[in-house]
Amino acid sequence: MPQNRRPLIAGNWKMNGLKADGQALAKALGEQMRAESDPVFDMLVCPPFTLIANVGETIDGSGIALGAQDCHPADKGAHTADISAAMLRDLGCQFVIVGHSERRTDHGEMDQEVKAKAEAAQASDLTAIICIGETEHQRDDGKTFDVVKTQLTGSLPNSSDSSNTVIAYEPVWAIGTGRTPSNDEVQEVHALIRDGLSQALGDDQAAAVRVLYGGSMKPENARELIALPDVDGGLIGGASLKAEDFWAIAESCT
Ligand code: PEP
Repeated sequence: MPQNRRPLIAGNWKMNGLKADGQALAKALGEQMRAESDPVFDMLVCPPFTLIANVGETIDGSGIALGAQDCHPADKGAHTADISAAMLRDLGCQFVIVGHSERRTDHGEMDQEVKAKAEAAQASDLTAIICIGETEHQRDDGKTFDVVKTQLTGSLPNSSDSSNTVIAYEPVWAIGTGRTPSNDEVQEVHALIRDGLSQALGDDQAAAVRVLYGGSMKPENARELIALPDVDGGLIGGASLKAEDFWAIAESCT
């Protein structure tokens, strides 16, 4: 976590929470953030679509950023039940997660579609958080580097830069399982991603793009993960649903 990249602590609430839950969580985080005079991290929450407006009102003015978990590649049209990047921007979102492994698995999303979604996000002034990561099977077969590099190259729009793009490395086998790669394994994949960003965007942009780690990050392991040289924060699922845990993870940046 070098000085020139400000850590981003991002919560992916997934399909969790009714209005009262979302509001309580957002209120607790907003209060914590307002009480922080000079936070050394950026904080982001990505509620389900149904809660975005409500959570946005609750955290308004707190300094916590608002995001969504997916968007459609088109800006409007006949796409029943889908949500465009422009609609998210209109609700006050600044970020959107694209290519999460649960979207890739549950909805068959491939790199090309993820790239189109990231392009749509960038075109609507949102920062795309592009998720990549290997399955357990791919890791066991020694294919982690190939898979991560291929997903990065295939999902990253040419228009990407440090202001509109964040990469999240999320080993699929670490998501929601309580298991994490070793610190060395995390760092080596993040360094590979940084190298891939250099080839795609040039050294200056590669040095500035934030690369998050995601997969069973919690208060107990956050400090050492975030301290790794090429880890610039976390994308957090389960632990982002408890204000105390999510805040403790953010405090690990200090
Ligand atoms: C995620 O889904 O992005 C994630 C990292 O989940 P968890 O923290 O629960 O492993």
